[in-house]
Amino acid sequence: MTAVKKDIRALTKEELRDFFIAQGDKAFRGNQVYEWLWQKSAHTFEGMTNISKDTRTMLEAHFVINHIEVDQMQRSADGTTKNAVRLHDGLIVESVLIPTDTRTTACVSSQVGCSLDCRFCATARLKRMRNLNSDEIYDQVVAIDRQSRLYHNRPLSNIVFMGMGEPLMNYKNVLMAIEKITSKEGLGMSPKRITVSTSGVPKMIRKMADESVKFKLAVSLHSAIDEVRTSIMPFNKTFPLQDLREALQYWYQKTRNRITYEYVVWQGINDSQNDVDALVRFCRFAPSKVNLIEYNPIDDGEFSQASQEAIQRYVRTLEQNNITVTIRRSRGKDIDAACGQLANKT
Ligand code: SAH
Repeated sequence: MTAVKKDIRALTKEELRDFFIAQGDKAFRGNQVYEWLWQKSAHTFEGMTNISKDTRTMLEAHFVINHIEVDQMQRSADGTTKNAVRLHDGLIVESVLIPTDTRTTACVSSQVGCSLDCRFCATARLKRMRNLNSDEIYDQVVAIDRQSRLYHNRPLSNIVFMGMGEPLMNYKNVLMAIEKITSKEGLGMSPKRITVSTSGVPKMIRKMADESVKFKLAVSLHSAIDEVRTSIMPFNKTFPLQDLREALQYWYQKTRNRITYEYVVWQGINDSQNDVDALVRFCRFAPSKVNLIEYNPIDDGEFSQASQEAIQRYVRTLEQNNITVTIRRSRGKDIDAACGQLANKT
């Protein structure tokens, strides 16, 4: 009889300890194996050298170790590295390492494809195939941490959930991954160095607030006028700005954590004074800052970056209203690794 073997990494530490007790072994053995799986990222049972041969054979008979494979790596002229990551079932996601003088940031994916339909984003054109599980998310971070040490001589310093997918539509697994990333048995990173970026799912923002999460929140706003936002992010019809705003106020009340709004200014779409004023009003609802993102064309010319004057008008008006604003230059454009360009082209 060949039963389907279970993925050992789907077990919690407790479950692993219980498994060993049920096998007549010590719970402590569970800790050792857990450490191999998570701290040392073992890909085989054979490599777990402080575990006896018999135990390794027994594990082999019960379990598999699912893990990702970095299939292809592309390096940009600006030092950005993009990984095509193959999952155990053959599907591919992308993740990116972005180095600056002082930090290296991992941009990781949470879904294969995306469930949302932002009209300016390349990932939206791949329909959502499935959610990533927590270890597939964790593994992307581990892979990038290794690359950071190898190419930049320092560990990874920050993580942004700004790759493929909508993290709040895969909330449970994203949270489990963050738990592992921040735990001592995992990478031991501070949650303050992790940013979850969402298109804005009000119910989930409230849930995060209730759970007192410690990571940072970014919201892809792009317009503070419902009509405009719905035309470029159609799901805004289901989650209109008022719901989003109330959820964000709730978030701030509970966490005291300032919100970052991501915002691209497009010609003829959101580049008027009226659009700027609406954003200023929206920013007053909860302490926040604005990240103006450069537009990365994804092909058909339907969208194009607004003029420098229009962008400067945003900067000026926001600053006059004491709202922090930064302009974020794109990285990794030449290898399609920039915001909104992740689409498994290769
Ligand atoms: N679904 C989440 C995570 C993706 S983050 C979210 O929407 O926040 C990717 C960021 O890049 C988002 O802010 C998104 O709005 C932005 N983006 C998408 N397409 C883009 C493009 N072509 N140029 C620049 N930014 C883009």
